[in-house]
Amino acid sequence: MLPCDLIRNSFSAYQANRCSLETKKIIDEHLEKCEECREAYQAWVVSSQKKEEQNYRDLMNLSQKLKTDRRKKIMKWTAICLAIISVLVFIILMISGVQIRRG
Ligand SMILES: [Zn+2]
Repeated sequence: MLPCDLIRNSFSAYQANRCSLETKKIIDEHLEKCEECREAYQAWVVSSQKKEEQNYRDLMNLSQKLKTDRRKKIMKWTAICLAIISVLVFIILMISGVQIRRG
């Protein structure tokens, strides 16, 4: 029987089916016989699922944040454009007002 350390280090590959059939068989047999590793594996599965859920949540938060940032940026630039346009309109009105008064 392989040492427990080796088995526990292979959980990730074992769960993702990234190990050879032979390795999988060895781990299966070990888990069948070794209660400690079986418990360790179940705990590992639970914690890896939690980690995955957390990663997913983080990803969703990030995309939400990016969306909000993009919206903020668009609003900022819209405000800047509107400000520039109103300044231009004001200048044009001033110039044309001066010209009307002169003419
Ligand atoms: Zn073991």
